[in-house]
Amino acid sequence: MIKNLFLYNSLIGEKVKFEPIASNNVGIYVCGPTVYSEVHLGNCRTFISFDVIVRYLKFLGYNVRYVRNITDAGHLENDADFGEDKISKKAKIEQLEPMEIVQKYTLDFHNVMSLFNTLPPSIEPTATGHIIEQIEMIKSIIKNGYAYEVNGSVYFDVKKYINDGYQYGKLSGRDIDELISGSRDLQGQQEKKNPSDFALWKNASKQHIMKWPSPWGTGFPGWHLECSAMGAKYLGDQIDIHGGGMDLKFPHHECEIAQGVSANNVDPVKYWMHANMLTLNGKRMSKSTGNTLLPEEIFSGENEILKKAFSPLVVRFFMLQAHYRSVLDFSSVALSASEKGFNKLMEAKKVLSNVKFVQKNINTELDSQIVNLIEACYKHMNDDFNTPQTIATLFELVSIVNTCNNANSFGEISKETFIYLQKTMNGFILDVLGLDNLDSQSNDKSAQLVELMLSIRNEAKNNKNYALSDQIRNQLNEIGITIKDGKEGTTYSIT
Ligand code: AMP
Ligand code: ZN
Repeated sequence: MIKNLFLYNSLIGEKVKFEPIASNNVGIYVCGPTVYSEVHLGNCRTFISFDVIVRYLKFLGYNVRYVRNITDAGHLENDADFGEDKISKKAKIEQLEPMEIVQKYTLDFHNVMSLFNTLPPSIEPTATGHIIEQIEMIKSIIKNGYAYEVNGSVYFDVKKYINDGYQYGKLSGRDIDELISGSRDLQGQQEKKNPSDFALWKNASKQHIMKWPSPWGTGFPGWHLECSAMGAKYLGDQIDIHGGGMDLKFPHHECEIAQGVSANNVDPVKYWMHANMLTLNGKRMSKSTGNTLLPEEIFSGENEILKKAFSPLVVRFFMLQAHYRSVLDFSSVALSASEKGFNKLMEAKKVLSNVKFVQKNINTELDSQIVNLIEACYKHMNDDFNTPQTIATLFELVSIVNTCNNANSFGEISKETFIYLQKTMNGFILDVLGLDNLDSQSNDKSAQLVELMLSIRNEAKNNKNYALSDQIRNQLNEIGITIKDGKEGTTYSIT
């Protein structure tokens, strides 16, 4: 397949043609969660956005290596260079070992991701598992003259980097003069040559739990370093795509660029991609302000802002109805509308899978209309992963299928177009958008099982084996399936 993908590179603020560094192989790195609490729905939006991006790259036939890390050390409160490690802080509150906190919330994250039907990354490296790589990277940065040691901590020298002609601030558009001339009075800033310098390694106090030996004494890595070290280790000194939420542009990703350039003398990322924020009541969903919703609250409906519960795939569909670079506001009303759309799409997919092709006279206009719409699905996804436009086009195909479906047969188009249509609908709905209707599939299976039990019971009754037929009825009753024998046959209800 000829690939014609364009994506928005946030480094230059433009849509550009995607050309991987190494022919058909694509490396993508996405900043993963800091596992000190449950992921909120905002975090999930970013991971779902990148899940669709990875899925579409695979769908186009690229060999994708997808690396998404777990931050399990070095991320300090307020995303700053001083203060307590977020994980150690939570460990004290919950009276657990930091690694118990890491385990608990990593499992929660994996569970939520699989409910949302996101594909697992190819590699999921942790910061604590890559301390050696991080120390090696710091050594290279020091050797190249872009970092200095003070009291067992190592800081990146932003001024030296700029003086040598590099652009610190090129991703986030921050005014670097302002950063450099900023206040020096903040806690922990006294050691730095300039307030904009950032920590690569921090000297650990006695009370600090998560610490490791290093050439500069016992300490721990700065938060920005892990992604640079692990990205380079698994995807090379220059990565095709690096992603994360918009809020990570500064300082996290800006620092990653400076680290990569100063350690390896190459821009570490070819295409930067940033997903926009999920908001609640118009404000960014954020753990620090408490303006959050947990996925579990939506699946159970247990939150006062929700009118009812919603399934994970409806929530996924709701998110994909917005473009990943647009802000999306969460509301129960919007989710209800998405639920209707989702059910309609699933129903049409089922109809299209079951409909028989019976060749009639070919309506060439209809045939080419369908081919054009199929091509539009690719066109929209090739246009910076435009999922809302793709979904709108799938709906146009759905209404054609519903109009033309005549007693479960369809034949006004060529067989070739029909097969292309079936393949495209399934491919986009299941493989690209990841909208596999897991819930209804398992419901379908349960319904089939109950029907099977009822037919065995019927046979037992016909053979006058009332002991078996009663046993089946009673045992189904015990698990909440009530059977009613009527004139029209046996029906059941589930309580
Ligand atoms: P964290 O665990 O705080 O490092 O965040 C994990 C990911 O979630 C990062 O890529 C963040 O940019 C992203 N994120 C945080 N809040 C939101 C939000 N309200 N909407 C979308 N993404 C978010
Ligand atoms: Zn990162």
